[in-house]
Amino acid sequence: MSLHGKTALVTGSTSGIGLGIALVLAKAGANLLLNGFGDAQAAIDQVAALGGKVRHHPADMSKVAEIEALMAYAEHEFGGIDILVNNAGIQYVAPVEEFPVERWDAIIAINLTSAFHTTRLALPGMRTRNWGRIINIASAHGLAASAGKSAYVAAKHGLVGLTKSVALETATIGVTCNAICPGWVLTPLVQKQIDDRALASGDAQQARHDLLAEKQPSLDFVTPEQLGELALFLCSDAAVQVRGAAWNMDGGWLAR
Ligand code: NAD
Repeated sequence: MSLHGKTALVTGSTSGIGLGIALVLAKAGANLLLNGFGDAQAAIDQVAALGGKVRHHPADMSKVAEIEALMAYAEHEFGGIDILVNNAGIQYVAPVEEFPVERWDAIIAINLTSAFHTTRLALPGMRTRNWGRIINIASAHGLAASAGKSAYVAAKHGLVGLTKSVALETATIGVTCNAICPGWVLTPLVQKQIDDRALASGDAQQARHDLLAEKQPSLDFVTPEQLGELALFLCSDAAVQVRGAAWNMDGGWLAR
């Protein structure tokens, strides 16, 4: 399918899942507005090599004024956003009674509230054009919990709820809103959790195996490319009646 003439904003697309999704959408012909910290130039170069127009905006997705600046930039540079992928996210693991308040606030702001802001700012243009795709990158943790991840689980369950509400509010127009719920994907966010386990056990291979075995029956990681292909399907005409779904791609995590 072709996304020529469409513009996609993928938040948190300088690495991991966001970059993987951006690459698949760019390969299908979309123009890309990237966002995120770290080596933005490397991400820009990879996406630009696929041919479309590419820009990067460094908005901190925990700050409403910066999100508003990002969306104004999208309007100015591309004439608006057709495909909004709310992907930026962080993780922190601690028991709830020891959870640092500042980490709680940051996780809720980046993993949940930022999607509210981008959605409310992107929707008017999508309504005018009567076409849009909003894809929220939630998690298996949007549908099931794990100990030690209270803020992340709360944010991701919230993101699934936001997805359903927005899907209902757009149910009769050409805008769809869905969530993708990945299981383990080997990105910096997960590598840190493997490293923390390896630090305790002294065995990196075992730590990787144990992390998978606890949750993911396939014993293999989901890849950013596979998630990109699912996002691309959600952009297709065939997916126009997929509305308010929380679609897991999780190696069987939620089947147990
Ligand atoms: P990652 O750490 O590789 O990438 C996170 C991206 O978000 C980076 O581009 C980073 O710069 C950006 N980011 C972080 N804080 C930001 C902020 N304040 N403002 C703007 N950008 C910011 O992580 P990932 O594993 O690719 O995760 C991407 C999304 O997928 C997250 O929402 C995560 O919760 C979700 N997810 C990941 C997994 C997994 O196993 N890796 C599983 C399920 C869901």
